[in-house]
Amino acid sequence: MPHVRIFGRGISAVNPVQPHPQLAEQESVANETIAAISTPPGRGGIGIVRLSGPHALEIANALLTLRSPFAHARALFAEIHDPETRHKLDEVIVTWFARPNSYTGEDLVEIAAHGSPVILELLMRLALQRGARLARPGEFTERAFLSGRIDLTQAEAVRDLIESQTLYQARIAAEQMGGALSRGIQPAKQTLVELISLLEAGIDFAEDDVDVTPDVEIVTRIDTIAADLEKLARSFEHGRLVHSGLTLAIVGRPNVGKSSLFNRLVERERAIVTATPGTTRDLVSERVSLGGIPVELVDTAGLREATDEAEFIGIRKSREALADADLVLVVLEAGIPLRDDEADLIQSLSGRRALIARNKSDLNSEDSGLVSVTEEKSPADGLSSVFTSALTGQGIAELRGTLLGMVRSPASEAESGMLTNLRHHEAVTAALASLHAAKTAVGSRIPHEMLLLDLYASLRQLDSLTGETTADDILNRIFSTFCIGK
Ligand code: GDP
Repeated sequence: MPHVRIFGRGISAVNPVQPHPQLAEQESVANETIAAISTPPGRGGIGIVRLSGPHALEIANALLTLRSPFAHARALFAEIHDPETRHKLDEVIVTWFARPNSYTGEDLVEIAAHGSPVILELLMRLALQRGARLARPGEFTERAFLSGRIDLTQAEAVRDLIESQTLYQARIAAEQMGGALSRGIQPAKQTLVELISLLEAGIDFAEDDVDVTPDVEIVTRIDTIAADLEKLARSFEHGRLVHSGLTLAIVGRPNVGKSSLFNRLVERERAIVTATPGTTRDLVSERVSLGGIPVELVDTAGLREATDEAEFIGIRKSREALADADLVLVVLEAGIPLRDDEADLIQSLSGRRALIARNKSDLNSEDSGLVSVTEEKSPADGLSSVFTSALTGQGIAELRGTLLGMVRSPASEAESGMLTNLRHHEAVTAALASLHAAKTAVGSRIPHEMLLLDLYASLRQLDSLTGETTADDILNRIFSTFCIGK
């Protein structure tokens, strides 16, 4: 067989499947059994202690008195006794998940006791005495990753799911936990591995009559991969909002009804509203869910010439909030001609995501006669506007609907493999940059060995999301594509 050089080009010669390569380095860690209280601190109906590692079962057996032996994934009744007095302390349900069919991929035991901190601490103390080590934050999920059961994006999605504030966020996290992002990247990655294999074969097996891939074909393949990745990178615009939420500043002159509209918008979503601590007297903010995306509503001090110092500071803060906001709601008074400062404000919002509420439409007969709740596009300002009455509630549903349309884009919602995480976005962007470098290299007729460096750089970025591509992956493709070794 010809000499295979690809090992030197950025791909490690390790077994492509389990366990994850980092596991070898961390073998001593994997030999340890870890333990932690997995339920939140404090008292509750139940509290769970989790053990994972080679001695999990043995330790659990020593801690508990069981009536029947452990069986995989079977919840068993057991008792805890005081190790000194032998008095019964609690009744628990214990479940053993045999490796590799567990969350961590290792032997895993979950002891569900009553949620009493003293009982849970006793269990922990006894487990540590018997050789378990206190788990680091996230270590159970880290072990799931190291054992090759989940990839990094799935591990990150577990954290996102736990931290989600709305059901929509939870749904997106759950999709990623199921590997949606990795599946979304897979076609581009496959095409890239195929291209690398083609070029490798052209170099390594030249004497075996493997044709050199024509430049035009290389460019076509690079374009296909780049198109997929660019689509993915674009999904981050929406994905970022899903993940981190956004801020909506409510601005306008004093007394136009900003606070009243703020209260109206907050009210309907009372369920998840939490007052944000640390906000100043002048800026009131509340977090609401708009279509499942957390939106920080910021009610600002009225924008006008300040009459005293306190107001001056309030107005400065309002301007800062306005500058930082992802979305702006300008509140005007319906039926009152636009003032110069309002016109200036609207002008300054060009190119930003902003909407006008023409409030107090109940007061103006002309506007209310005009079907006070319809949405209109005013050519003068270029922003959509909605007639509202914070007093009667008219137009509030429309206002909410229009804001929702600005927050959520139906196109990106359809994509289940959307990017929501900055690290993922950076990896995809870096993969694209390397692809573009490779394409330029083709144009400059640079040798394929050099071109491959860029392609491998791109592949490594995708690997950081979906898991490592190994030399075996590339070799397998080469051997399955070409009749070599005849
Ligand atoms: P802000 O200074 O812009 O925050 O305005 P406020 O929300 O404090 O409202 C100023 C006054 O206008 C209050 O007396 C409100 O009750 C009243 N107001 C607010 N919205 C409406 C509305 O839609 N219709 C009517 N008629 N009054 C309103």
